[in-house]
Amino acid sequence: MKLLVAVKRVVDYNVKVRVKSDKSGVETAGVKMSMNPFDEIAVEEAVRLKEKGIATEIVAVSIGVNQAQETIRTALAMGADRGVLVETDVAVEPLAVAKLLKELAAKEGAELVILGKQAIDDDMNATGQMLAALLGWPQGTFASKVEIADGKATVTREVDGGLETVELALPAVVTADLRLNEPRYASLPNIMKARKKQIDILKPADLGVDVTPRLTMVSVSEPPGRKAGIKVPDVATLVEKLRNEAKVI
Ligand code: AMP
Repeated sequence: MKLLVAVKRVVDYNVKVRVKSDKSGVETAGVKMSMNPFDEIAVEEAVRLKEKGIATEIVAVSIGVNQAQETIRTALAMGADRGVLVETDVAVEPLAVAKLLKELAAKEGAELVILGKQAIDDDMNATGQMLAALLGWPQGTFASKVEIADGKATVTREVDGGLETVELALPAVVTADLRLNEPRYASLPNIMKARKKQIDILKPADLGVDVTPRLTMVSVSEPPGRKAGIKVPDVATLVEKLRNEAKVI
């Protein structure tokens, strides 16, 4: 079974993002970029399926600028076999990514596509769902457990108030939630080996997809800053302030 994993290059989750002064977006120049954390979980799950003998080949796909090859290399060092970069300088939206992944899934003959549930840069939480719709494949989103057997994927999903288990006929789309697994760190030998693995570079036009944005970013602003707190001398004053100033009791 061939597997496609989508990996997005995003601002590292440890970086405190700063809004550009013209409010057109967040500052990315000179900022540490890494693989989207949910995509690390998706790669880990794919590698585990290969280690179990269920997946035969894992293709890591990224859509974005040329430097997104580094993100693909990380996936290759974790255990993916090959990479595909769809190179574009356009800030791609979920629908464009889903259209490109659809073409690649068909081209590669993939039976399972694993994505992160959400990219932490613009929190769309839409690409996996759109991809499943475009392909006409079943989807198991927010997966916290995935089992593959007899041409089916059994996916446990984290929903409000509990866990829901769904059974999908393959081919299918799965999106990874936080508790699906704990991604491995790539070992030095595997990082070295990954340098020799193949990355094919395509353009969106090679797949017949128009990635022109359909949304216009109006403005990006910082959340309002918190006001400094005060110290109160005793409980009576605290109660008085909660009652008369904050009006919460
Ligand atoms: P989103 O719908 O943007 O929150 O992203 C959900 C998931 O889709 C991510 O976790 C990735 O697995 C995948 N994805 C989104 N954008 C890209 C991209 N530019 N390149 C590769 N994968 C992506």
